[in-house]
Amino acid sequence: MFGFQTPVIVIAGPAIIYVVLILLTLRKRGLDSWLHRVFFLYLLIGIVWAIGKSLSISLGLYPLIPTYGTLIATDTLAILPVLLTVLTILFLERSGAQWTGVIGGAWVAFVMLVDSNAFGLNLAFQNSLRLSTPAEATNAVVLMGWSGFTGGATVLTVWDYIRIQRPLHRNRILYWLMALVLISVGEGLTMSPGETTAQIGAFTRLLGVLMMAYAMLSYYLPSVRNVVRQGFAAMVSTLVTATLFLGSFELLRWLIQFMPNPNMALVSAIVMAVLLTILVTPLRRATRNLVDKLFMGGGYDSARALRDYSAAITNILDLDMLVTMAVGVISESLEVQRGALLLTTEREDGRTEMRIVPGMGEVDTLPADFDPNGPILSHLQAGQRLLQYEIDLLPQFRAAPYEERAWLNQLKMELYVPIRRQSMLVGILALGSKANEAPYTTQDQDVLSTLADQTAVALQNARLVSDLKALNADMTDLNDELVSTNRRLEKLDAAKTNFIQIASHELRTPITQVRGYADIMADAVQTGTPTPAQMAQISQGISRASVRLEEIISAMLDASQIDIESLNLNRTLLSVMTVVRMAADNYSSAIQQRRQTLTVHDLEGLPPIEGDLQRLCQAFSNLIGNCVKYTPDGGSIAIAGRPLRESGGHGTVNEFIEITIADTGIGIDPDDQELIFDTFYRVGSPDLHSTGSTKFKGAGPGLGLPIARGVIRAHGGRVWVESPGHNETTFPGSTFHIVLPVSMPEAAANVIASAMAPTPVTGK
Ligand code: ADP
Repeated sequence: MFGFQTPVIVIAGPAIIYVVLILLTLRKRGLDSWLHRVFFLYLLIGIVWAIGKSLSISLGLYPLIPTYGTLIATDTLAILPVLLTVLTILFLERSGAQWTGVIGGAWVAFVMLVDSNAFGLNLAFQNSLRLSTPAEATNAVVLMGWSGFTGGATVLTVWDYIRIQRPLHRNRILYWLMALVLISVGEGLTMSPGETTAQIGAFTRLLGVLMMAYAMLSYYLPSVRNVVRQGFAAMVSTLVTATLFLGSFELLRWLIQFMPNPNMALVSAIVMAVLLTILVTPLRRATRNLVDKLFMGGGYDSARALRDYSAAITNILDLDMLVTMAVGVISESLEVQRGALLLTTEREDGRTEMRIVPGMGEVDTLPADFDPNGPILSHLQAGQRLLQYEIDLLPQFRAAPYEERAWLNQLKMELYVPIRRQSMLVGILALGSKANEAPYTTQDQDVLSTLADQTAVALQNARLVSDLKALNADMTDLNDELVSTNRRLEKLDAAKTNFIQIASHELRTPITQVRGYADIMADAVQTGTPTPAQMAQISQGISRASVRLEEIISAMLDASQIDIESLNLNRTLLSVMTVVRMAADNYSSAIQQRRQTLTVHDLEGLPPIEGDLQRLCQAFSNLIGNCVKYTPDGGSIAIAGRPLRESGGHGTVNEFIEITIADTGIGIDPDDQELIFDTFYRVGSPDLHSTGSTKFKGAGPGLGLPIARGVIRAHGGRVWVESPGHNETTFPGSTFHIVLPVSMPEAAANVIASAMAPTPVTGK
């Protein structure tokens, strides 16, 4: 410790090294990030501390100086651990650095208050801790903060070391941990009264700060594990060799007793020496290998790995299989636990799509968008491999878009090896950490690059085959779609042809009725004066027929406007109960006549909804009317409702109501369940329909359901039907579901596909 005896060196030594560190930090990294700025401050305060500490233990020539020195050292020792904790948080890239800074600042202010005995704080501490001097009380308070902050920083670092799985990141954290231990041990020692201990402490702290600077300023830190391994291997092999030599000497000594002839002893000594010379090198190598195996999980034969690899992957045309095989063989030699292939596809917009084909371990995520000229892809494109560690730490990769880095990060891979063919990137081999958690050595990476080169041709073939398969699947889908569209078109075409037949049939019925009544009236006039009763019957008949005519024409007009114009809705707050009751009232006499029962459940409790009363009545009337028509006499119709809630993203909840109208009627074939909502579509031949708006199977023009759907959609709702099928002997029944939003979306009335013109509203 002779250097430290000289006061100048004691003061200047650490301070100069801290200054050099400051200059180095500025030169290498500048003050571009908070980590470097806080480190800069930490070093500055470290210098003040070092000077204070040195003054406090040296320069006894002037009695005041040591006291000032102690003061400076104590005050700065309140600040240093706070900065150390902030630095640790920034280094580990955790959140909360600001808060820690604020709390730390408050703490330092508190220490100052104690130091100056403001509010009698110092005295209070002195008394409660039974200390004799104010300085002791300040020291005790500083010590508390020091232990808290330093301890906190250490716990945080240890926690991250345990939590983080990636070897290179862990290695970096290990450096930080060692630095923290050195700094805290150093600072701890300087607090002890002994002069020499304090000097050793200052030196230890300096070492810690140096290590911290190293961990922060250089990205490629030698693996601690490797250093320890090499040291341990050297120690073990030296021990083994020494034991061998000692053993041999002992053996020789023992043997020589039995050799009367000195020449014989000489010969045996020579033999022993030769044997030792031959043995020593392989023995040392074997011990090293053994230690390696213990630490690194053993080496592997790269030539064999290559041979196995190419044998395994050539001729595989299935992409998934190729990846599984490739990662499988790699994992056997390198003991990798996770791996996948990233496939890059150039898109029309110039971006590159990155898709993952999992090989081993749980890796499955959606494709992502990459910038082909961004730092990550250009690096790989150039045929250079990339470590996740580099993406996380090196400034040039940190400049890559956040989405790219986040996507790669969640894959939990360690190394990316480009697979190129004719200088074009065809894929990327992504590998997770090894089973023994050792980092990939340069040799490992070289072998993997060679394997990647071998994969290029197989991968290109497999990609071609997979593209072809995808194309084939697309074609099949397209074909299926065409067939079903064709079937649908055929049905619609038939419906349109039928429409003329239906329309003329529908219109002719009331006209015939009007003509019939006109004839009756003419006869009555000819044969004498018609009685008032006759007149009343005739006028009622004519009126009924004309109402029916009007209804049919209105429905036709309504339906003809579907999909053409937007629907003007008169929004009011209304109860579904009222809507259903008004709609059902239209059919009360028909239901009675046909001895059907209509029940309504659970509608009272539903929330009021926003909508157009007349339009909704029209829709429900059409639906209920159909149930009356397609249910035989004596059947039943049940209407029920329930509220529905669904989360609409961003924490909002959308409220709906669902109404079901179930009948015990003839049912609807699954094939027809969508088509019946198309305009003019009717199940079966029009000839088979009987006329009349409420008779069993009484035909309409096939417009009721399209109108109902148009209205419901215009309210932002949906309607569909469920039925086991059509059967006119077993009557399986149908259930219509109507879902309506409680509050109408603003755009619904204009955007929803089907809408209708504001024509007079009628029942069906
Ligand atoms: P229509 O005027 O023919 O009743 P809609 O558009 O109201 O026209 O209905 C289309 C077709 O849907 C009907 O022809 C009928 O075959 C079928 N349909 C509608 N509602 C029911 C129901 N409740 N039960 C069975 N079939 C139904």
